[in-house]
Amino acid sequence: MCGYAGRILRVDLTHGTITKEPTPAEVVRDYLGGRGLGAYLLWTEVPQGADPLGPDNKLFISTGPLSGTLFPGAGKMDFATKSPLTGGYAGASMGGMLTAELKYAGYDAIILEGISPKPVYLYIDDDTVELRDAEAYWGMGSFALEKKLKDELGEEFQIATIGPAGENLVKYACINHDFGRQAGRGGVGTVMGVKKVKAIAVRGSGGIPIADVAGFTRVAKEAYRACKEADGFDAWTRYGTMIVTSWCDENGALPTRNFQSGSFEQGPSIYASVFRQTIVVTDKGCFGCPTPCGKYSHSEKHDIYVEGPEYETNGMLGSDLGIGDIEDIARANQLCDELGVDTISTGGAIAWAMECYEKGVLDREQTGGLDLRFGNAEAVFTLIERIAHREGWLGNLLAEGVKRAAAEVGQGSEKWAVHVKGMEQSAYDTHDATSMLLAYMTADVGAHHNRAWAITYDIAVGRDRVTLEKVAKVIELQHIRPLMDCLGCCRLQWVELGMSLDYYAPVWTTRGKTCCTSPSGCGI
Ligand code: SF4
Repeated sequence: MCGYAGRILRVDLTHGTITKEPTPAEVVRDYLGGRGLGAYLLWTEVPQGADPLGPDNKLFISTGPLSGTLFPGAGKMDFATKSPLTGGYAGASMGGMLTAELKYAGYDAIILEGISPKPVYLYIDDDTVELRDAEAYWGMGSFALEKKLKDELGEEFQIATIGPAGENLVKYACINHDFGRQAGRGGVGTVMGVKKVKAIAVRGSGGIPIADVAGFTRVAKEAYRACKEADGFDAWTRYGTMIVTSWCDENGALPTRNFQSGSFEQGPSIYASVFRQTIVVTDKGCFGCPTPCGKYSHSEKHDIYVEGPEYETNGMLGSDLGIGDIEDIARANQLCDELGVDTISTGGAIAWAMECYEKGVLDREQTGGLDLRFGNAEAVFTLIERIAHREGWLGNLLAEGVKRAAAEVGQGSEKWAVHVKGMEQSAYDTHDATSMLLAYMTADVGAHHNRAWAITYDIAVGRDRVTLEKVAKVIELQHIRPLMDCLGCCRLQWVELGMSLDYYAPVWTTRGKTCCTSPSGCGI
């Protein structure tokens, strides 16, 4: 296949200029696209020592060669930047519809560089690309702005936004899209915020050049059929990632009260079956997904709609905070999404503060009057708002992430700040899961599960020791999993439904065939 739109958009926010550059053929040949392209651009374009919040840092938004095609789950894009949270590499994946729309508009990637003197949003309608005034949108929540822009521009525009947390430079602010999809980790929304880019709106009417349409379609159809006929298809599409909650609880991997335990006495009340029966309204998937894991939910108790919670959010805003009411977790999820903070890091930061409070390291004056005991959902809702707005001493402190917060508070609280490289650990307890612990410790971005989800291997082979086989398994996973992020497609069809890896190679290695319609004429 070719699979590339052939152009990259470079947006100089300092000077307000926009240029269209050819996608470099040799780079996408060697690095594919998506995460590979973003990491390459970050490495080559951002100078050593750059301040993550300074004008030298850039935000790279990249699609892969499969993004927007008929291949199962081809709705992923990647965000790369120097992380304000860790000071190192931030790479965040996001699903939804934006990646396909960007390719149809004729762009493989967007580079945001410099800092705009005033709030703007990036408007892309095929060849028309403009920076538009966003002063009136500054301060708006993510869902509210996405709806407003769709109302103003048209339903067919695909929109990515930041919430108030990105504007306020909360170090783990996220980028939101499609009313519930996020590029969550590492502060990619913080970098968008410091650049004063409130939103990106894209509409495209073109297609994607494919070198061998018949061959590509045949393999894609076979892969779809494999997903639909997989044993786990019915359960996966009914429950999504929430299906993991009971498994983690039973296996001692469900983070509970700031990872003090791996099982939660109220666990069954937040299992997937309860979730499905009580609050799920409908299923929701990314572009081209045969196995939609997104669950759109309604909480009567809080009178809110939200996509989720998915498993990570359930763990980090639920059991890890001692909360056993699925509607309370949905409310915390909705607040994080609307305000624009990563649910994993937010949960990790609040859980640390709760442990500090219960151990007497933080008092009620320092919490701004909040009774921050584990399980106090109302206090959690208030604290999420305070973090997003950097309100009060504790809100401002937690907005810096758990590593900086613990360094400031001291008194031994560093011991219960659960992070790697400054990134809060995602929702797998690793006291008794050494492969997963190794995966977190060696992940390029910090303690993020998507680099190597090795916990099933711990369960399979024994949990207490680190063996050479476990090291080899983590390395193997760290080599396979980036492939999907580079290609621009979801890995869950492979991870959860066992779709064979053999489907991937034929759709992007049709070497020798060139696509005569490619604007780049790259010949890949
Ligand atoms: S499985 Fe979930 S994350 Fe993956 S493409 Fe489908 S809806 Fe998106």
